[in-house]
Amino acid sequence: MLVIERDYAVGVMSANNAPAAHCKDGDIVEFVTRDCFDDCIVSETGPMLPHKQFSNPVIGPLYIEGAEPGDVLKVDILKMEVADTGIIRTTPGCAPFDDIVTEKLPRIYQIRDNKIIFDDKLSLDLDIMIGCIGTAPAGEDIDTKTPGKHGGNMDCRKITQGCSLYLPVTTPGALFCLGDLHAKMADGEVASCGMECRGRVQVQVHVLKNVDLPTPMVVDDTHMMTIQSEPTLDEASVTASRAMRDFLVKSCGLDSIGACMLLSLVGDLIVCQIVDPLMTVRMEVPLDVLATYGVKLP
Ligand code: CA
Ligand code: CA
Repeated sequence: MLVIERDYAVGVMSANNAPAAHCKDGDIVEFVTRDCFDDCIVSETGPMLPHKQFSNPVIGPLYIEGAEPGDVLKVDILKMEVADTGIIRTTPGCAPFDDIVTEKLPRIYQIRDNKIIFDDKLSLDLDIMIGCIGTAPAGEDIDTKTPGKHGGNMDCRKITQGCSLYLPVTTPGALFCLGDLHAKMADGEVASCGMECRGRVQVQVHVLKNVDLPTPMVVDDTHMMTIQSEPTLDEASVTASRAMRDFLVKSCGLDSIGACMLLSLVGDLIVCQIVDPLMTVRMEVPLDVLATYGVKLP
């Protein structure tokens, strides 16, 4: 299996990034990821290691042979694991807790037996997710702290083992990257961090030709989800809802008003994160509703 080591890190998603590796449609590839602090926090009180290169680095990019602009890249998340420690660090000026947070304060947590040891009373089950994952964006480069149409720092906790993520291809080879693993994160990411971890992710990549899908989009065992990032939560709510509505009209044969009405009944609108430069929202629709209309996702 092709493995892309942690040395191949980047801090921007860009069509100009040199590929770290090439693979074929259908290949399984493992990414060895750095944490969002570039693995440079080793103590709660001491200075960061001086070799920090990037904020929120991702590993890659992976060039997928045959992927061309206009295609969709389907990424099956096969397997994930995280290191035996995780870090949360406060960020001054980051709402909602900017009323009390005045400095960058890291805390380091132990991870044992698939649990995060939060304190001497509370242990939390691991629920590993990928914070930043995407393809090279169309147009301007986008740093790896920012989400967008290309994916990026969406911090959607549904991007986890067993799901499929659908991303746009806007440059030859797609130039796919991922990183910023969290051992756990709640919807909202309200203290600006998940349980930030180093880790490993195995994915299988598929190039889809001639499909019309509302990327970025996630499908898990039960739901299909549109994910949209905008300057405000209000705007992200609008674009995520409209992306799903338009998909229902095209794929289910519903008229546009019927699609709006259906989404008022079955489309859950959920905040992914409110702390990255753009806000991210997802709309979830049950797969059994889509199946009733004969929709089969590629
Ligand atoms: Ca993130
Ligand atoms: Ca993170």
